[in-house]
Amino acid sequence: MTQVHQYEVVIVGAGGAGLMAALYASMGAKTAVLSKLYPTRSHTGAAQGGVGAALGSEEEDRPEWHTFDTVKGSDYLGDQDAVEYMCSQAVPIVYELEHMGLPFNRTPEGRIAQRPFGGHTNNETGRPVRRACYAADRTGHMILQTLYQQCIKNQVTFFDEFQVLDLIVENGVAAGVVAAEMATGELHVFHAKAVVIATGGWGRVFEITSNALSYTGDGVAISMRRGVPAEDMEFFQFHPTGIYKLGILITEGVRGEGGVLINDKGERFMERYAPTAKDLASRDVVSRAMYLEMQEGRGIGGQRYLYLDVRPETVNKYAKVDGRTRPDGSPYVVTAEEILSKLPDIIDFCRTYIGIDPVKEPMPVQPTAHYAMGGIPTTVHTEVVIDEKNTVMPGLYAAGEVACVSVHGANRLGTNSLLDIIVFGKEAGLRAAEYAQGADFTPLPAEPEAAVREHLDVLRHGDGTERVSDLRREMQVVMFDKVGVFRTEEGMQQAVDKVRELRERFHHVRVDDRGRIFNTDLLEAWELGCLLDVAHVTAVAALARKESRGAHSRDDHPKRDDKNWLKHSLAYLKPEGVELRYKPVTITKFQPKERVY
Ligand SMILES: Cc1cc2nc3c(=O)[nH]c(=O)nc-3n(C[C@H](O)[C@H](O)[C@H](O)COP(=O)(O)OP(=O)(O)OC[C@H]3O[C@@H](n4cnc5c(N)ncnc54)[C@H](O)[C@@H]3O)c2cc1C
Repeated sequence: MTQVHQYEVVIVGAGGAGLMAALYASMGAKTAVLSKLYPTRSHTGAAQGGVGAALGSEEEDRPEWHTFDTVKGSDYLGDQDAVEYMCSQAVPIVYELEHMGLPFNRTPEGRIAQRPFGGHTNNETGRPVRRACYAADRTGHMILQTLYQQCIKNQVTFFDEFQVLDLIVENGVAAGVVAAEMATGELHVFHAKAVVIATGGWGRVFEITSNALSYTGDGVAISMRRGVPAEDMEFFQFHPTGIYKLGILITEGVRGEGGVLINDKGERFMERYAPTAKDLASRDVVSRAMYLEMQEGRGIGGQRYLYLDVRPETVNKYAKVDGRTRPDGSPYVVTAEEILSKLPDIIDFCRTYIGIDPVKEPMPVQPTAHYAMGGIPTTVHTEVVIDEKNTVMPGLYAAGEVACVSVHGANRLGTNSLLDIIVFGKEAGLRAAEYAQGADFTPLPAEPEAAVREHLDVLRHGDGTERVSDLRREMQVVMFDKVGVFRTEEGMQQAVDKVRELRERFHHVRVDDRGRIFNTDLLEAWELGCLLDVAHVTAVAALARKESRGAHSRDDHPKRDDKNWLKHSLAYLKPEGVELRYKPVTITKFQPKERVY
C-alpha cells in the first residue's frame, strides 16, 4: 500500500540549498525534507574553498565589484538583476551563518578571514581581491553541519533515504512528489501545496568529475519529464585542477594561497594566457590553457596532466615575482606549516589517494567536470518558469545547483555556488511558505504513483542484456571527450548520436537485484535514465549553440557572438526529441564587453 503524507511545503534535497529552504519554510508552513542521502552526506559537504562575499575584512571590497566580476565571469550570460541581488545579499547572509555558529577562519583582529579566488578582483586595480570566506578547506562541510544543526533545533521533519522519482503536476500546478523509501522499497506520495527542488548537479554525466556518485541530475530529469524545460544545459564547468585520472577536486584555494600551474618545461604558463590574473583567471580560461598546453605536448612527460605546485619555495618565488604582500604590506612569505594549516584536507587527499605530499612535491592535475551552470529555469524569487515568457508553474520552486536563476551564466566564479545555495535556498523557503499560506491543496490525481510503479516494475523485471555500468561508462566517455573543455561540430554530433543510441539500449537494461529492500541496483538503473536524459539535452543544446562563450568553447566558432547568441537556451524533452527555444538575457548595468584577463 502506498502511504500518502500531507505537508504544506515539501523540499527535495538536504544539501545547503535544501536545508536553508527548510529552515525558512518551516518557520511559516508545515514542512518536510526528503533526501536520498543522509543530509550531511550531501555534496555541499565536499566544498572546500570558500563562500564569496564582499565583506572587506582584509582589504577594500564592494558588493558592486562582486556583481561586476560575476557578470564578467558569466561571459555576460548571467541575468544581471539576479546577480546583483545575490551579491548584495552575500554580506548579510555570511554574517547570518556566522551567527548560527559557523566556525570561519579569522584574521588576527577576529574578523572573518578571506582569501583570493579566480575572477574576483578589485575593479579599480584589476588585481585579485580577498573575497572568499572560508573554514580551512572544508567550508561546505561547515555550512552543511551548521544548517543541519539549526534544522534539528527548529524541529524540521526529515525523511532520510527517500528518493524522489516523480513530480506530481495537476492542471499545470505542482501538487507533490512520489518517492521510494529506500529501506523498504515502498512508494510514498507526498501531497504538497509547494514543492522546492534542491537536488544538486549531474557531473556523473562525464567520465572525469569532481562530483559525488549521487550527482545524477534527478531533479532536472524529473521536472523535464513533467514539461519543465532545462535552461543553458550546454554550459558545464570544467574545474582546472582535478587529481589526474581520479577527478577529485583540488580547490582553487590552493592557487589562492599562492600555488601555481607548471608545465613540462617548468614554465608558469598562465602568464602567457592571462597576464594580469595569471593562475587565478576564470576557470574556463585556465582549463582551456591547460588543454592547449597538453595538446602542444607540454603535459608532464608528454602525458595528459600538468603540475599544481604549492611547495613553499615555489609559492614564495612567484609571490615575489608578482609583488604579492600581506594585508599589513609585508612581503608574502609562507612556510610549510602555514600551507598545512590552510589546506589540511587537500594535503590529506593527496597523501591518501596518490601518495604525494603537496608541501614536498607538485600535484598531478587535469581539468575535471565540476559544475552545472544550467538547470531548472527560475525567476529571481526561485519560482520555476516553463517558457520563454517566464510563465511560472504555480507551487514549484527550485534552488541551488539544480536551478538556473541565472546567476552564473556561461561560467561560474569559484565561491559563488555556496553563495547561490544559501541566498536562493533562503528565498525558496520564504517564498514557498508564503505561497502555501495563501493556497489550497490541489486535489491529487487518482493513483499518482502509477507511472513510477510501472517504470520500476519494467526495470526490475526486465530480462534484456544491457548492463547499467556499461551504458553509463559509454555515456561518460563520449560526453567527456566530445562535450568537454573543447568542442567540435563533428564531436558533438557524435555525442548526440551516441546518447540517442544509449537511450534506446536503456530499454533493454537488466537489473540483477529483484528485491525491495535497499535495492540500490534498481535505483542506480533509474538514475542512469536521468543521466541519459540530461546528457541528451546537454549535447543537443551544445551542438546548436554556434559560438564560444564561457565554458562552451568550439573550434569552428571560436568567438563569442552577441548578435546571434546573447540568449538563454530552453531545452524541452519531447518523445520525438529535444525542442530548443531561447529567451533574452536580463541586462541592467553592464553592456557586454570582451573579457580580458
Ligand atoms: C568537490 C567540490 C568542491 C566544491 N567547492 C566549492 C567551493 O569551495 N565554493 C563554492 O561556492 N562551490 C563549491 N562547489 C560547488 C557547490 O559545493 C555545490 O554546487 C553546492 O554545494 C550544491 O548544493 P545543493 O544544495 O544545490 O546540492 P547538494 O548539496 O548536492 O544537495 C543535493 C541534495 O539533494 C538530494 N537529492 C538528490 N536527488 C534526490 C532525489 N531523487 N530524491 C531525494 N533527494 C535527492 C541529495 O540527497 C542531497 O541532499 C564544490 C563542488 C564540489 C563537487
